[in-house]
Amino acid sequence: MYSELNPPQRILMGPGPSDVAPQVLKAMATPLLGHLDPQFLTIMNDVMEMLREVFQTKNQMTIPMSGTGSAGMETVFVNLVEPGDKVIIGVKGLFGQRMVDVAKRCGAEVIAVEAEWGTIIEPAQIKEALEANPGVKVVALVHAETSTGVLQPLQEISQMTHSAGALFVVDAVTSLGGIEVGIDKNQIDACYSGTQKCLSAPPGLAPVTFSPRAGEVIANRKTPVQSWYLDLSMIQSYWGKERLYHHTAPITMNYALRETLRLVLAEGLENAFTRHQTLGSELQAGLVNMGLKLVVDAEYRLPQLTAVYIPEGVDDLSVRKQLLEKYSIEIGGGLGAFKGKVWRVGLMGYACNRRNVTVFLAALEQVLKEQGYRKP
Ligand SMILES: *Cc1c(COP(=O)(O)O)cnc(C)c1O
Repeated sequence: MYSELNPPQRILMGPGPSDVAPQVLKAMATPLLGHLDPQFLTIMNDVMEMLREVFQTKNQMTIPMSGTGSAGMETVFVNLVEPGDKVIIGVKGLFGQRMVDVAKRCGAEVIAVEAEWGTIIEPAQIKEALEANPGVKVVALVHAETSTGVLQPLQEISQMTHSAGALFVVDAVTSLGGIEVGIDKNQIDACYSGTQKCLSAPPGLAPVTFSPRAGEVIANRKTPVQSWYLDLSMIQSYWGKERLYHHTAPITMNYALRETLRLVLAEGLENAFTRHQTLGSELQAGLVNMGLKLVVDAEYRLPQLTAVYIPEGVDDLSVRKQLLEKYSIEIGGGLGAFKGKVWRVGLMGYACNRRNVTVFLAALEQVLKEQGYRKP
């Protein structure tokens, strides 16, 4: 016989998933509805309306795709890009690299604009790439690069993208709900996010939004979207007025999303941003105070994801193991170029609270001490 499922209560302070509020877990334990039940259609309307508020957009085409953040990424590229299209992608970490991979699989001619991990893509680099490559269709950036903790400024690159007649695409998987994404203000044409980072619901839905201009590009495609599952022209018929069956919506995940969006809006977007900013700064000050070195310069540091160098002589895995086993705290290790070199500490959504900052700093101090680490 198998025992009843009984996962331990963790403090999820890694790069995602983040802790989920009890109200969201409760919403997920409510009765299932059919995906065409009038009551569920009302819930879908609420979700779309609330997503517009959180994305800060009037975009009609704003819906949650079935799947995690990566499904959102794939949705944007498969719908906007046709074989042979030129796409500029800013690569300054793992998720920029993933965009390149996805765009190439759509047949795009990818122009990767690279920057060192831990730094931003400079607007001048994109300007140069736009000038060297006439007829670019899409310029894509990762707003909050979760592999490095870098906050990428958007305004200037958005303007030069539009001046060149291209569409501006942004990955907001880790930014949405934690820092301002501002779809309309920043004139972002297509954007995707995920439920499991600062939105603090379980992984499973990928909110996306498309400007009317991006909608036109999709409507005027010459080739069918290569992915049946992520084809927006069909999915819109389910989320739009017709409510035509395409695939069965993940009902319970939509309950979770509705409840977590309700909580974000009840707190107020600005208040949520301030909370992330304040506590992120406190966490970062605490790490510096312990003699640790942060990866990103203060100007471009994300509040919700802090990358910190692992001090010399300290074992990456055993520190993370002790944090998990003794304190039930999860943090992330480094990815790619940063593997074994950095830790990534998340303060996302519901997990972004002062208790977690204090408990984590105290636990890390204790574990480092046991590893023989002394503040320099
Ligand atoms: C987590 C993340 C993704 C991928 O999301 P999944 O939910 O893991 O599929 C994409 N982009 C960024 C910036 C992320 O942080």
